[in-house]
Amino acid sequence: MEKYKTSFILLTLLILSLFSSTTALANDYRIEKIAGNIYRFVDDRHRSVFLVTGEGVLITDPLNENAANWLKKEIEKRFNLPIRYVVFSHNHSDHIYGAKVFKAIETTFVSHQLAQKDIEITKADTIIPNVTFKQNMVITLGDNTVSLQYHGKNDGRGSISMLFQPEKILFVVDWIVVGRMPWRKLWSYDIQGMINSTKETLNLDFEIFVGGHAGIGNKSDVQRYLSYLEELYTAVIDGIHSGKTLAQLKESTRLDNYNDFGNYNSWLPLNVEGVYERLVEESGMGWRPDINNK
Ligand SMILES: [Zn+2]
Repeated sequence: MEKYKTSFILLTLLILSLFSSTTALANDYRIEKIAGNIYRFVDDRHRSVFLVTGEGVLITDPLNENAANWLKKEIEKRFNLPIRYVVFSHNHSDHIYGAKVFKAIETTFVSHQLAQKDIEITKADTIIPNVTFKQNMVITLGDNTVSLQYHGKNDGRGSISMLFQPEKILFVVDWIVVGRMPWRKLWSYDIQGMINSTKETLNLDFEIFVGGHAGIGNKSDVQRYLSYLEELYTAVIDGIHSGKTLAQLKESTRLDNYNDFGNYNSWLPLNVEGVYERLVEESGMGWRPDINNK
């Protein structure tokens, strides 16, 4: 009976995933104008931003091969301008695969030097950027500028912020999210790094925030996200000090000022678990003599 049930569930999941992957191909891609010359490209859960000027187009993450093919055709159809730059947000494959679609003599591929190194070392199936930077880089295209900045470790390797001027739009992937909780167990995130990097971005001159996932917001949404991260981090640290187990922390931690964030109820225990794991492993709270670990 149990076996029959499992195979039934598996079959249902298979049918559902086949259905959703075929519908995702054509219908889930879309382009939205954000402001001025800046557009948002949406593929299901992933988002990137691109800039269109008389001198050509600058795109950011190509996302994946199917998405990149669709985007390339749409840019040709709507604007008929060359793609001059492809700028990677960081090193993770779900954001930067598909870049080969844009390989052309007039196209420059840009990333932080740590992202480029990681792509090279791990033999990632994408373009190895030919222009890199260590701290800051400014790209001018037409009347627009795009300021790329590294804020230290936060997610993956060489993850940067991108500020589009004159539109005052900030694009950050993964380590800032608005309108939704940060991703499940905060896989691959450096929590202290996310907090520091987010603080730094608040000093930048932006009015609109666009994330690599979830919604579009403003500076106060980013401020609120930062407050959530700080309160989450403090709650778990204080909980560990008071001798609570992970199970107790997952059960008792409430940050209800943020219960309007998407997936609040289902992902809060996962966020707590992710922070706990990072504190135990990276900060060594699992073997500290001053902490009573059960
Ligand atoms: Zn992501």
